[in-house]
Amino acid sequence: MQLAEQVTFGGGGLDRAALRRGDAVWLDDAWGKGRVLPLWRGKPLCCEDGLGWVPCANPVPAERRARAIFLGLADGAPHFAVDISDWRPDEIPDTLGLFLDPSEQRHPDLPEDHLFRELRRVMPGLDPLQAELAATAKGICEWHRTHRFCSRCGQPSRMVDAGWRRVCEACSTPHFPRTDPCVIMLILQGNSVLLGRSPGWPEGMFSLLAGFIEPGESVEAAVRREVAEETGIRVGRVGYLASQPWPFPASLMLGCRGEALSREITVDPAEIAEARWVPREEMLAVIAGESADIRPPRPGAIAGYLIRRWLADRLD
Ligand SMILES: [Zn+2]
Repeated sequence: MQLAEQVTFGGGGLDRAALRRGDAVWLDDAWGKGRVLPLWRGKPLCCEDGLGWVPCANPVPAERRARAIFLGLADGAPHFAVDISDWRPDEIPDTLGLFLDPSEQRHPDLPEDHLFRELRRVMPGLDPLQAELAATAKGICEWHRTHRFCSRCGQPSRMVDAGWRRVCEACSTPHFPRTDPCVIMLILQGNSVLLGRSPGWPEGMFSLLAGFIEPGESVEAAVRREVAEETGIRVGRVGYLASQPWPFPASLMLGCRGEALSREITVDPAEIAEARWVPREEMLAVIAGESADIRPPRPGAIAGYLIRRWLADRLD
């Protein structure tokens, strides 16, 4: 069977050139010859071939130069992101913020064939480097949008280091971009994998169990706790498989495997609508889109990648 080469957002080898973030002279020069990705309300600018990079001299990013974020060097060129969420299109659709917002926006001063699109819809078609740039841009723009005030004293903070830090104007506390670690786990017993569905998910949509890691908790402990809370199943040995940055809005998915020590399922109805053991043969039909009651995993999400690795006997 065909195996995805790697996880979407799983790392494209972007040179983040982090030592340049505080070098204003170097950054000015880089801006002069660089490319920039505008984002509007978390949606990257896209063209037919992928992300819609534009020259930094374009007036839309240029007038927002002070809050441009330096992403790094890719294909030998400096790459930036700029949030233009202050732009008001003529029409603001009521699908904004939906899981798969189908709406597209065109800015009158950006190239005519470039549109703002929901990243979930375009991510499966991006190559690894473009996907890493998109995830980085979306994640850090969202962090700035939602962390404008100091969490220590409540006063406004300002962006420094080309977008990679904020500093409080009043108490000088530094604030760094936030990433929230989550575990997502392939829980196996014998020839079966454990799938669950959250309340409110579309009919037939199942995935691996997942949850946020809590302060003071190890990855292994989080896997065992989440599975026990959601399904009542006890998990023994836990191992790490792969990770995926998931900028919706700020997660880092840590893909794990776990050996179930029990089989009986008792769901917590607040978190899980239904959980079930799915045998390997049935899972092959699910992946092929041939199952009558379980949809195939969503393209780009790490759950599908982990399941395909398991089905191909490539967990080790
Ligand atoms: Zn402060």
